[in-house]
Amino acid sequence: ALPVLAIVGRPNVGKSTLVNRVIGRREAVVEDKPGVTRDRVSYPAEWAGRRFMVVDTGGWEVDVAGIDARVAEQAEVAIALADAVVFVVDATVGSTDTDEQVVRLLRRAGKPVVLCANKVDGPAGEADAAALWALGLGEPYPVSALHGRGTGDLLDAVLDAL
Ligand code: GDP
Ligand code: MG
Repeated sequence: ALPVLAIVGRPNVGKSTLVNRVIGRREAVVEDKPGVTRDRVSYPAEWAGRRFMVVDTGGWEVDVAGIDARVAEQAEVAIALADAVVFVVDATVGSTDTDEQVVRLLRRAGKPVVLCANKVDGPAGEADAAALWALGLGEPYPVSALHGRGTGDLLDAVLDAL
C-alpha cells in the first residue's frame, strides 16, 4: 500500500486548497467558511517520482459543542491512520488555542509532522511563518497553497518524513 499523508488543521486554514495543489487537480472542496460536513477523502499524489495518498480532513459541522472538539476528533483519526502529517496553520492569523490542541494530539501520536505556515502569499508573510517556530514542531514551511509558493520545499520535507 502507498504511504499515507494526512493534512490536518483547524477549519479555513487552507487544507483543501493545499490538497488540490498537491494532487494537481481541483477535487478537494474549498470553502470560504467552515461548517460543511464532509468525510475524510484520500487522493493519489506524486512528488519527485514517489507516490503516496493524501488525505484531506474535510470540513465538519459547527455545533453547540463547539468546533474545537470536532477539530480534535477529525485530526485524531486522520493522524492515527497516517504515516506522516502536514499540520496546516494560517500564518496570517498565527497559532490559536485550537492549533495548540492539535499540537498536543500530534505529540501524543508520535507521527512525523511537517509544519505548513499557509497563506504566505508573498515575502512580507515570511515573518509570520517564522513566528510559528514557537509551536515547537520544528521548521515552519512558508507556503501559499493558493498560488503554489513554497509547496515544493514543503513536499520535499514530506518525502523525507514519509
Ligand atoms: P480548509 O477549511 O482548511 O480546507 O480551507 P480551504 O482550503 O477551504 O480554504 C479556506 C479559505 O482560505 C478559502 O477562501 C481559500 O481560498 C483561502 N486560502 C487557502 N489557501 C490560501 C493561501 O495560501 N492564501 C490565501 N490568501 N488564501 C488561501
Ligand atoms: Mg477543507
